[in-house]
Amino acid sequence: MANQGETHDVLIAGGGNAALCAAITAAERGARVLIAEAAPKGFRAGNSRHTRNLRTAHEAPTRLLSGRYPVAEYLDDLMRVTAGKTDERLARITIEESAGLAEWMHARGVRFQPAISGTLSLERTNPFFRGGGKAMMNAYYLTAARLGVEVIYDAEVIGLEIDKGVFSAAQVRHRGFERRIAARAFIAASGGFQANFDWLEEAWGPAARNFLIRGTPYAKGTVLRLLLDAGFASVAEADQCHAIAIDARGPRFDGGIATRIDSVPFSIMVNREAQRFYDEGEDFWPKRYAIWGRLIAKQPDQIAWSIIDAKAEELFLPPLYPPIRAQSIAGLAEALGLDPAALGATVDAYNAACDAEGPFDPGVLDGRRTHGLTPPKTNWARPIDQPPYIGFPLRPGITFTYLGVKVDESAAAQMADGGRAENIYAAGEIMAGNVLGQGYLGGLGLTIGSVFGRRAGEAAARHARH
Ligand SMILES: Cc1cc2nc3c(=O)[nH]c(=O)nc-3n(C[C@H](O)[C@H](O)[C@H](O)COP(=O)(O)OP(=O)(O)OC[C@H]3O[C@@H](n4cnc5c(N)ncnc54)[C@H](O)[C@@H]3O)c2cc1C
Repeated sequence: MANQGETHDVLIAGGGNAALCAAITAAERGARVLIAEAAPKGFRAGNSRHTRNLRTAHEAPTRLLSGRYPVAEYLDDLMRVTAGKTDERLARITIEESAGLAEWMHARGVRFQPAISGTLSLERTNPFFRGGGKAMMNAYYLTAARLGVEVIYDAEVIGLEIDKGVFSAAQVRHRGFERRIAARAFIAASGGFQANFDWLEEAWGPAARNFLIRGTPYAKGTVLRLLLDAGFASVAEADQCHAIAIDARGPRFDGGIATRIDSVPFSIMVNREAQRFYDEGEDFWPKRYAIWGRLIAKQPDQIAWSIIDAKAEELFLPPLYPPIRAQSIAGLAEALGLDPAALGATVDAYNAACDAEGPFDPGVLDGRRTHGLTPPKTNWARPIDQPPYIGFPLRPGITFTYLGVKVDESAAAQMADGGRAENIYAAGEIMAGNVLGQGYLGGLGLTIGSVFGRRAGEAAARHARH
């Protein structure tokens, strides 16, 4: 147990993937590392314990991945989803270093498995961990312990002593008591601010109160706020985040991957007025699932319903909560709390606009589109006419926020006045906005955290030793 008054080489705020990658790297270079994790031990590892895979470049098929995923293609994908809102230098570093990550992880206890079905078609680009993120994080914690990394749980960093860009100590609330922990270098790996509803409300207005948070309740952005208040430069906008459509019946926090609903492309999506509001068949679901959280956030009361009929039920992963069923559209509307006449009119208008030509094929963009309907449905449009009719209530599920601390290629935090901090680094979601100004590519969160966690650990250890 760390003693009051003792100076560590490296203090890390956070206990997720970025923190552990940093801790292991720093400890491997001989640094004495202390991790302060805000969560109690049973809830350690933040959002990272919910993960399943990360995105890696590779030039040839591997034991885990099919085909090839060259750096250039990966970078193209990133430029497309971010619409160029990325620091290209840091993006390139992330992508080039992703190629060696699986091997590095394996050497530190993480085990992989081939992709399973229903995983958004990632078998070419993303290796999957055996046992998911929890097993990955347990492996990292074991490796860190073997390297002598100390961890204190229920230990929230609530203050930072920083003078002219130089960190000297942190105030930590540890099991209810405040203590000062000094260190030669500090790594902020404390995630986004998505669990802080006051902050979300600043960005989204009152709508934020209806959001559900898919991961940890401990990501309140305390360290991010401390760093921004201390004069560090920010990246990305406060309302940019990864947000998907999740079952409205899920818990406020930590619903994880199980509350995601994948019925959207085979359904019509309606809001509280039973009106459609976006093209459900715009593209393949893996390319579109991450836009639906924002779309629902803009609807009245931040809620929407996915409506299908019996023939669509086999086309997506079964949901966690039971589907709401009825033998008629009017009965379904009543069960969902929607106006039966309004939903009936929306379904009738949609059915009448469906193109009866051409085969329905969920495996391709089948071009079966509506005609004369606004907004259109441009693929997989089939009449909703086979009972039982089924509905799922959906809310925005926030995965993580992008507003973060600006860093350089060694993960060193940058001052707003252009200066570079002496011994303060950031890794993971707290700096993901450097690479992700908007949009998302599945598996990139962990890749950014792993690459910059290792870089932060290396730079912090180097600084502490000299
Ligand atoms: C349901 C779900 C599924 C996901 N699946 C994937 C996936 O398959 N692949 C992928 O790449 N990404 C995925 N993500 C995103 C991914 O989790 C992250 O981008 C990545 O794991 C974040 O790592 P991190 O270390 O930055 O943050 P986290 O893992 O969230 O860790 C942050 C840590 O900081 C701690 N903390 C917060 N404030 C303080 C403080 N003041 N003092 C001390 N500690 C503090 C928290 O307790 C937490 O342990 C998923 C996210 C969710 C919610």
